[in-house]
Amino acid sequence: MLISIKKSFKGGVHPEEYKELTKDKAFEKLPNPVEISIPLSQHLGKESIPIVKKNDKVKIGTLIAAENGFISAPIHSPTAGIVSSITKTFLQTGFQISSIQIKSDSSNETEFLQPLDYDSISPQQIIQRVREAGIVGLGGAAFPTYVKLSPPANKKIDHIILNACECEPYLTRDYRIILERTDDVIKGLLLIMRATNVNNGVIGIEDNKPAAIKKLKEALSNYPQIKLIVLKTKYPQGAEKMLIKAVLGREVPPGKLPLDVGVIVQNVGTAVSIYDAVVKGIPSIYAYLTVSGKGIKDPKNLIVPIGASIKDVVEFCGGLTDDAKRIVIGGPMMGFAQFDLSIPVTKATSGILVLTEEEVKEIPETNCLRCGICVSVCPLNITPTRLVRLIQKKRFEEAAKLNVSLCMECGTCAYSCPAYIPLVQWLRLGKQWALKNKV
Ligand code: SF4
Ligand code: SF4
Repeated sequence: MLISIKKSFKGGVHPEEYKELTKDKAFEKLPNPVEISIPLSQHLGKESIPIVKKNDKVKIGTLIAAENGFISAPIHSPTAGIVSSITKTFLQTGFQISSIQIKSDSSNETEFLQPLDYDSISPQQIIQRVREAGIVGLGGAAFPTYVKLSPPANKKIDHIILNACECEPYLTRDYRIILERTDDVIKGLLLIMRATNVNNGVIGIEDNKPAAIKKLKEALSNYPQIKLIVLKTKYPQGAEKMLIKAVLGREVPPGKLPLDVGVIVQNVGTAVSIYDAVVKGIPSIYAYLTVSGKGIKDPKNLIVPIGASIKDVVEFCGGLTDDAKRIVIGGPMMGFAQFDLSIPVTKATSGILVLTEEEVKEIPETNCLRCGICVSVCPLNITPTRLVRLIQKKRFEEAAKLNVSLCMECGTCAYSCPAYIPLVQWLRLGKQWALKNKV
């Protein structure tokens, strides 16, 4: 059933989209690089524990690191070859982490999990498969998916929302997944619904994707238990709290989770990963991502083995233009600028952007105009201008009491600020203080 709604959530912005650079580019597969470097933390929890050592032979899909605690996930090899070293490398966040380096032998031998029967698989088997396949949420936070699919018994879940918004500019990965793997997206959602014993599925999609809406609408005609809800295009509609508000009109209270209002949100890419893990036995070894921006010669949508470097990806896309200025992993609003092209692609990498001087536009900051725009656009109703003033004066405790920790770093306030104040960077500093001091 298709429902088109005009309402959305309070606040937000509508930046220039730039989706035309890649929206018609079908996925291509990046050939396996000669050497890859696979970080042992590609999820929220502790580093996974390596179970291979130098000179071990691995195949595509071999388990190379085991999960380590509650919100950790196992890691599998995306290439066949020899473990050449286990050493520290940088991640996109700028932190160093232990990583397993594998030299490819081009044999392409595989060691996948046993495929399971889609029609008869039980809820417990789905959750176990999601866990052993190392699937993490592909919407950004990289939370291990099996944990989300196992809510505490006292939380009654009544809706699964599949997030097909893709509200960040430039990114077209989710859009292409819907176009190219429509049935697998739906079957993945049905597996999530079966695993959680929930009968109401919803796909929330923004109205700037008419071709994807058409395909989903046709494919969903036989599935009355799944609604397709078309939302007004607005950033950050893809944030879980905003999506739940827009789709179901439910508010997730500050400090609470979607499951506290009876909802689990998953990304379309995660649904396809679950389908692949169940039906084909393929663990989480590839990242589906968009490579875009005016600073890359040939923008593309790619399927990339995890552990491939940004350099490998950029070279496959024709290299940088002469006016390339900044490389960002993720979208332009929430992504991280990079200082080193050897940074590896991880499971949750959604995009690699190369932006030119024209797109980066570094404009000097001026004094706050007290215009209040940042307050009116903040989707979480927090007061960026006041918080930032406190943080700049090192009055961290007061900022913590005013809920700086709730900021999701969406960048909406900084994007809108006419004084070009880097509000998010200050807010991040305040959040780090609050986290360290447990306030
Ligand atoms: S970055 Fe934080 S303060 Fe700014 S708009 Fe987003 S949630 Fe609000
Ligand atoms: S948008 Fe910028 S200039 Fe306006 S109140 Fe907020 S911080 Fe000050």
